[in-house]
Amino acid sequence: MSSFSHIRVPAALALGLLTACAKPQHPTVGAALDVIPRVEFNTRAAEHFLPFFWREDANGDGALQPAEFAVLWGLPDDAASLWVDAAGAFTPRFLAAYAMLQAPAAGDAPRRLQLVREELAQSAPTLVRTDLSADSAAERAMVGHLMQAATMVERLFARQKGSFGLDAGIPKDDAASRALFHRNQSPFCEAPKTENDPLCSAIEPKPANRSGLYPADIQDTPGFCQRLEKAPNADALRDHFSIVRAGAKPGEFVAVPYTEAWKDDMTATAQALDAAADALGATEPALVAYLRAAAASFRSNDWEPANRAWKAMNADNSRWYLRVGPDEVYADPCAWKAGFALQLARINHDSVQWQTRLEPLKGAMEQEIAKLAGAPYKVRDVNFALPDFIDIVINAGDQRSASGAIVGQSLPNWGPVALAGGRTVSMTNLYTDPDSNARRATQAAALFCKATDAAYQPTGKESVLDSLLHEAAHNLGPSHDYAVAGRTAPVAFGGPLASTLEELKAQNSALWLTGYLVTKGVFTADEHRRILREGITWAFGHISRGMYAADGTPRNYSQLAAIQVGSFLDAGALAWHDAETAANGLDKGCLTIDFDALPAAVAQLEKQVLVIKSRADRKSAEALKARYVDAKDRYAGIKDTIATRYLRTPKATFVYSVAMP
Ligand SMILES: [Zn+2]
Repeated sequence: MSSFSHIRVPAALALGLLTACAKPQHPTVGAALDVIPRVEFNTRAAEHFLPFFWREDANGDGALQPAEFAVLWGLPDDAASLWVDAAGAFTPRFLAAYAMLQAPAAGDAPRRLQLVREELAQSAPTLVRTDLSADSAAERAMVGHLMQAATMVERLFARQKGSFGLDAGIPKDDAASRALFHRNQSPFCEAPKTENDPLCSAIEPKPANRSGLYPADIQDTPGFCQRLEKAPNADALRDHFSIVRAGAKPGEFVAVPYTEAWKDDMTATAQALDAAADALGATEPALVAYLRAAAASFRSNDWEPANRAWKAMNADNSRWYLRVGPDEVYADPCAWKAGFALQLARINHDSVQWQTRLEPLKGAMEQEIAKLAGAPYKVRDVNFALPDFIDIVINAGDQRSASGAIVGQSLPNWGPVALAGGRTVSMTNLYTDPDSNARRATQAAALFCKATDAAYQPTGKESVLDSLLHEAAHNLGPSHDYAVAGRTAPVAFGGPLASTLEELKAQNSALWLTGYLVTKGVFTADEHRRILREGITWAFGHISRGMYAADGTPRNYSQLAAIQVGSFLDAGALAWHDAETAANGLDKGCLTIDFDALPAAVAQLEKQVLVIKSRADRKSAEALKARYVDAKDRYAGIKDTIATRYLRTPKATFVYSVAMP
């Protein structure tokens, strides 16, 4: 830290005095802004809850220039003009902030504040930037209105989480706690090293975690969801688009539609969506139709018309992707109520090329998968749309995670549009920035031995293809609704194990199909191996999160990743070498991939999983889980090592910047 402590910005700026000058001139800074290295600058700005980001050191001079700078959406003071003036120079206010960032954080902070900083440090701000300078004025105006809608959606989501307004209790000068509250959309810690510490909280004392979807007092009793399930009006109480409130009589509960419970915020969101439609005028008719329908749904609480208009948009009739409304149930302790989210993206036209190449092979892929699955599964007519590729502009509300982001999604979850096939997207611009690439390389070099690390390194498109095939494979072979003797997968296997198996099928099929698609000329042998390597490092990432959440809930992705890696180790396609040093030259013990042997190991696991699903063979599924997820053996030690080395590198917290000329 000491090397950052010398101050090169004039003291007057550091004190903010120049901001008061009547005739501001471009301040002559004593030296370039080269005191704080780029990654450190971004970390400190985040900890101080400042809305900016040093994108990259484009000219390699180690100093921050306005052209390398981005202002972030959704934080206080996020108007670009506050930080860079009309002439393109940093404002005195920015220079004062820079000077403040040079001072290291006080080391003697109270324990709670130290934990808050530790929580923040476990994921690094990672920029998603969109440049609208080549878009029309109408589109820029539309995005402006959608940014307002996004802010309203975040208010609604905060009301759902029960965190709305709690940040009023954070002192103004406690920037780190305000940053945590904003990032996590709650006062609570979520990162692996701090989530279980009772002192870790943005608010002192730590409040009880009470969802805004149910009466607070009933949440004190464990099993309150089951209690509601037994109520005479349980169907209404479980409704996806209503909250539960206490009724007139003691012990009675009533459902209140979102549109009644939060009428003002719902209406304000609808108005912003209408304004976005107005701004577009006659351009983008499919998107305009969706904006109008979504606005109407925010007023009526009937989400089906919006779903229909949403499904009618595609990569051919719109340059944009937008989804706004209540969708996923992850934030509800009872997993019934849909959380509000807004996702704005641009269509990435690479998807059209992949759709064209894979579309004619859908039936053949299903036949191959069905062959491996065997009886009683029968090949079916597969009629699904391959995912659209989208480049994210803004994630808000339930889509804006404290760390990481959803990279593939099929919606809607319910209703006629869902039953008819919905729409699937792959998010293609996440994890493609220079910071994500550098972190991935650091993690791989900590686990792979030297030769493996150097071979088939990612070019940037592998993760997208992996996730494209993963999403497609959910539609192939036996899925959740496939039934053996009338029993669907969740009934035959139990909910959590069924989910793990379905995700295992999708992910392992992605790797297996890559090999199959080599024989069809879709991929080269070299691309095949790069995608396999990507699949292995993807699995490491999920293994590092641990097999179970703090409350004992199984982590489906972590478990399937453990089954893959363990099974490939048993097959000899992966090998752990205790005596060898990892490619980073630091860590003793490392892993090698035998690329000649890996495809057969993938095929072996593929057959095993598909047969289990085809026959609804719960015993074999449980054995697979016992062997690779729960056993306390040498492999458990390897999984721990993977986690230890991966967690040294922070995860990504995505932050969003929209550049408007
Ligand atoms: Zn999946």
